[in-house]
Amino acid sequence: MAAGLRGTLALLCSSRWPQGWRLSLGPPGARLAHGGAAARLQQEYDAVVIGAGHNGLVAAAYLQRAGLRTAVLEKRHVLGGAAVTEEIVPGFKFSRASYLLSLLRPQIYADLELQRHGLRVLPRDPYSFTPLLEDRSPPRSLLLGHDMAQTQQQIAQFSQKDAQAYPEYEAFMGRMVLALDPLLDAPPVDTAALGKGSLLQQLRNLRTLKPLLQAGLALGRQLPHYYEVLTAPISKILDHWFESEPLKATLATDAVIGAMASPHTPGSGYVLLHHVMGELEGRRGAWGYVAGGMGALSQAIAQAATARGAHIFAEKAVCHVLLGRAGEAQGVVLQDGTEVRSKLVLSNASPKITFLELIPQEQLPKDFVQRIRQLDTRSPVTKINVAVDRLPSFLAAPNAHDGQPLPHHQCSIHLNCEGTQLLHQAFTEAAQGHPSSSTPRPCWQAVGPGTSRPEMHMQTRCLTASKTTPQASRHLSLAGTS
Ligand SMILES: Cc1cc2nc3c(=O)[nH]c(=O)nc-3n(C[C@H](O)[C@H](O)[C@H](O)COP(=O)(O)OP(=O)(O)OC[C@H]3O[C@@H](n4cnc5c(N)ncnc54)[C@H](O)[C@@H]3O)c2cc1C
Repeated sequence: MAAGLRGTLALLCSSRWPQGWRLSLGPPGARLAHGGAAARLQQEYDAVVIGAGHNGLVAAAYLQRAGLRTAVLEKRHVLGGAAVTEEIVPGFKFSRASYLLSLLRPQIYADLELQRHGLRVLPRDPYSFTPLLEDRSPPRSLLLGHDMAQTQQQIAQFSQKDAQAYPEYEAFMGRMVLALDPLLDAPPVDTAALGKGSLLQQLRNLRTLKPLLQAGLALGRQLPHYYEVLTAPISKILDHWFESEPLKATLATDAVIGAMASPHTPGSGYVLLHHVMGELEGRRGAWGYVAGGMGALSQAIAQAATARGAHIFAEKAVCHVLLGRAGEAQGVVLQDGTEVRSKLVLSNASPKITFLELIPQEQLPKDFVQRIRQLDTRSPVTKINVAVDRLPSFLAAPNAHDGQPLPHHQCSIHLNCEGTQLLHQAFTEAAQGHPSSSTPRPCWQAVGPGTSRPEMHMQTRCLTASKTTPQASRHLSLAGTS
């Protein structure tokens, strides 16, 4: 059983809509609506997925496609887990947690025909804007985007040498991504199984190493350099390439966002790689906004699953997994006591919820439970969604008179982190349980009556929404790392 669920969790990181239930497609993030008596959760399925995060929904779509009668049971009223659109402030729709798309595997995009099911993405270009807090007037800013010539011009404000090195750095990272990309679709190597079992079994196990060896071969003689990117602190890697702090700190943000790490932490280079190895509609390394907010992605996946016949239910919290005598999964019990039988149970909930809350502890090996308890899930990230009545006007890039969005309003805006040291300082304070004490001086200004600058006592990466919602120009999302 434990092995089954463990396998399932790995899979997750990879028709027939019941009459009377419908998946409401507008507004995005809308709950499932119950429309008639025929809409019933059945007593038995071939597969049950706990949780309708986007990974749970993808798993359900593939299971149903493979011919298994599949149900997804989500505890919240809205599908998508962290990929949801919600109207937190009346009149304003937010991608409440996750907000940018890139890591969705192209094969899933194609297999599930997500475009046909309504997914529309808008590329984020330029991708980052770093306004500086400096005493000169006007202060400078750094805008990075896919246009290499313009990006080099921007970097040259701070260092000609860095501007020249930038295309080579991008090519270096690009080669690494190309070599490692196939690993994302390959089953993980089961190191514990290597060298075990019959000769035939051992040969089979060895074959799982093939994609890894191929990646090594593709990297060729540069392998030691790439190995360093994966294992060294990102500050060391960036110091090798560049000299200007605004550039290094802007790039380093992607090496620490979401991770309890400083740019000086060994292995932070891997986190950066994670942020450059995605792709969007064939463009490698590109990130984009989902029209309708991130919930529209979850809706498209849910549509793909239900079109194949999967049953998806909101407001169905699973209380525990039913186990047989030999520890095999037999189904789940909902909070209201309803039993749903199934030979296959997948969990989209976190490993801690799955193994420490939903499964009786005595049914699991002690050392396994201990390892789950020890998983470090601390995060230094705070995301604050803010509704504003107009776009901020930055001292380094003031708004036009008509107040229309400028390119830098549509990308990730890095505030108060234009030096690697600031990121490191924010990390050390977060590690001690404190928000960053580095209070930003104003780098944007009020542009009209009633406009105020949100107080931010955090190292903050600020994101303006793209043109994905009708309220785009009134919709500001602040995501902070502290
Ligand atoms: C603030 C924030 C911003 C992020 N930004 C980005 C971004 O821009 N781009 C990006 O690629 N990634 C981003 N991420 C990471 C990304 O959102 C997650 O990696 C991803 O959403 C995980 O998806 P999932 O389906 O595996 O799990 P989840 O989204 O966590 O879904 C799990 C689901 O299981 C349900 N569940 C749990 N327990 C039960 C139960 N007992 N019964 C029934 N249902 C249950 C939950 O309600 C939830 O819906 C961000 C994460 C956060 C927190």
